[in-house]
Amino acid sequence: MADIAIKLSENRKNIPTTDELGFGIHFSDHMLVMDYNLEKGWHDTRIEPYGPFQIDPSMMALHYGQAIFEGMKAFRANDGNINLFRARDHFRRFNDSARRVCIPEVDIEEIFSGLEKLLEIDSAWVPSAHGTALYIRPFIFATDHFLGVRPSHTYKLMIILSPVGAYYAEGFNPVKIMVEDEYVRAVRGGIGEIKTPGNYAASLLAAVKAQKKGFTQVLWLDAHELKWLEEVGTMNIMVKIDGEVITPPLNGSILPGMTRDSTIKILKDWNIPIVEKQISIDEVMQSGSDGRLEEMFGTGTAAVISPVGSIHYKDKDSTINNGNVGELSQKLFDEITGIQYGTQADINNWIDIVKV
Ligand SMILES: *Cc1c(COP(=O)(O)O)cnc(C)c1O
Repeated sequence: MADIAIKLSENRKNIPTTDELGFGIHFSDHMLVMDYNLEKGWHDTRIEPYGPFQIDPSMMALHYGQAIFEGMKAFRANDGNINLFRARDHFRRFNDSARRVCIPEVDIEEIFSGLEKLLEIDSAWVPSAHGTALYIRPFIFATDHFLGVRPSHTYKLMIILSPVGAYYAEGFNPVKIMVEDEYVRAVRGGIGEIKTPGNYAASLLAAVKAQKKGFTQVLWLDAHELKWLEEVGTMNIMVKIDGEVITPPLNGSILPGMTRDSTIKILKDWNIPIVEKQISIDEVMQSGSDGRLEEMFGTGTAAVISPVGSIHYKDKDSTINNGNVGELSQKLFDEITGIQYGTQADINNWIDIVKV
């Protein structure tokens, strides 16, 4: 494995206090960088001071969006060490994303050890207050200076680190969601199943529209029939009806969430019925009015579990569990965060410990 060159920052920043954290606002002192070209492949892995860098106005990623990213977290365990959650699985998904938009794959062990090194160097940036974490953002973008449409011949990979506050600082807060029945996020065969910037650009207008109407998130329906549940905001979606948890299958337009996967495994361990199958918005609204819709929640790295308190679809509203946090949502949140902070047994080997 190639050596990692390290250049340490001479201007260390003040590490934010717990109150200042927020999400994605502060960045640590260092970043990991790798370059790609046709002759050398991925090369020149290095850790350097976090900071701006120059790009050319014709840089391809700016024009055609050939870029991908990941989002994962590291947690401060009770013993002071750092718990990294499912990092290799995130890097495997990073490579799945890369293939779909013709970006060359990275060596998983190489980038994993680069991340470990970066975490050792910036370990002081992993916050320790309950519910806080270090958000890890790996990304790759096309760097050729060229305005023709084709895969770039050069790329840059970076990993930046951002300490983030507790998502539920004031306790679990069920969200109000609006079912979007005009715009769609992604189509089967398109790029909805990978983490690439265009998907998020496509989602903004509907999110703004929902927020103007007083809703927190958009519930996306499928692009073909505007009928089947897909995702909620940038989370996967699960509903519990008549004791059974249902989540849409990974059909090509849904992001294969790591939290979705972790939740499915845990539910199976608990012998709670969980099925991956298509479910229509009409069925969800009907189960709501029949009193059979017990819980609904989003799953994602940022919030872990995000309970849905009410759902709005075409002039109808359905309140779920009287707008309260469901028992299963709470139990799943406690279990997953327990594994992440090291207070619950990690039976699936999801944690890598970075000793500091
Ligand atoms: C990242 C993401 C998710 C959740 O994935 P996790 O791996 O659980 O964080 C779900 N949907 C979309 C669109 C996403 O970008």
